[in-house]
Amino acid sequence: MALVRRMASRLVAAAMIAWLGTAAFSAQADSDVTAVARDARLAGDELRTRFVMDLTKPVEFAVSTLSDPYRVVIDLPHVSFDLDPVAGRDGRGLVSDWRFGLFAAGKSRIVLDATEPVSVDKVFVLPSVSDQPARFVIDLVKTTRAAFLDEAEASAAEARAANAAVARKGDRLKPQADASRPLIVLDPGHGGLDTGATGTAGTLEKAVVLDFSLLLRDKLMESGRYDVRMTRDTDIFIPLRERVKIARGHQADLLVSVHADSVRVGRSQVRGAGVYTLSENASDEIAAALAERENRSDVIAGIDLADEADDVTDILIDLARMETKKFSFFFARTLVDELRGSAELVKNPHRSAGFRVLTAHDVPSALVELGYLSHKLDEKLMATDAWRDRMSGAIVAAIDRYFARRFGAANMTLSQTADAGKADDTDAPAEQ
Ligand SMILES: [Zn+2]
Repeated sequence: MALVRRMASRLVAAAMIAWLGTAAFSAQADSDVTAVARDARLAGDELRTRFVMDLTKPVEFAVSTLSDPYRVVIDLPHVSFDLDPVAGRDGRGLVSDWRFGLFAAGKSRIVLDATEPVSVDKVFVLPSVSDQPARFVIDLVKTTRAAFLDEAEASAAEARAANAAVARKGDRLKPQADASRPLIVLDPGHGGLDTGATGTAGTLEKAVVLDFSLLLRDKLMESGRYDVRMTRDTDIFIPLRERVKIARGHQADLLVSVHADSVRVGRSQVRGAGVYTLSENASDEIAAALAERENRSDVIAGIDLADEADDVTDILIDLARMETKKFSFFFARTLVDELRGSAELVKNPHRSAGFRVLTAHDVPSALVELGYLSHKLDEKLMATDAWRDRMSGAIVAAIDRYFARRFGAANMTLSQTADAGKADDTDAPAEQ
């Protein structure tokens, strides 16, 4: 054990020297031009696995590790990835899968999923020589769980400090522009190195939900009835907790998180849209499994969840306060009603489970799954203007109905204004 520890610290020291050496080196490189990653590959076997990325110029880097699941996180300045978005799906040796993308403004990230505990044996950047590109190289070797945890613990503190220093887009938290109009936060799921689900024809969830959300934003803005903010309007990763913070920071009247699900081969006949709300107890196993998939976003992007676990549990127990929960349910039911006339719906189209992105305790929140990327027709439809127009129109109509009932009739409670036939206690919360 002592030997392993000593070896581990020696290896970390070696990595640090490589890092410092590179930092000093790349400080001289042209810092105005963004590095472009043109190719990346894995080599080696279960004893030693090498990850190599070809770059148009050397970059600085910082490497950290995360456990449960085992991940190696490589933080880089903004790199433009000229790679197949699903390039990392094929693993090799000690790496089962890897991802890349924009992690925050000016900051890119690569996450390697390790099949077992690994140690960073070497990490360096080679400058470009004649016709050879610059290369980022990291060698992973097998280690014990104990040694991995030691290294992960040490790097977690550093990574947390570095992440805290990352300035996220400041304009997201501008105060509400016009308090007379409801403010809606649209939240396109995933982004950056978290691609979300992948369709049978290669459609990426992060792209399809962003396009759709931008269209929805334009329609809402054109109506003149709402202010709209986006959690992201580019291909960038936003942690789930940050999405909740953005909605709360804007004192939003509604958060709509937009996704497109995918299910495993064998269930590829499942299709249709669905609407989800927060609940401590999932309404069924399908909703629980979906929430688990959606909640993996932060794990996929290499976020250390250790320091926010309590936060989420507290909020779930508090259940986002009853009033907010009722409004969320009411919106979800309204949305399902509107979608019914415009789109195919899943069985039981309103379900609930512990979605982390819906945990703002003072912002009514719902998550809509537009359809299934694992279903050929759904995937095709999502790319058509006609479907997008119909679907976004239905969501605007639902938002109109929701706010008409919530704010329209000043002295009436929602239970009085809700359609008598549809109202039940979760549909029609009373204004407090
Ligand atoms: Zn999703």
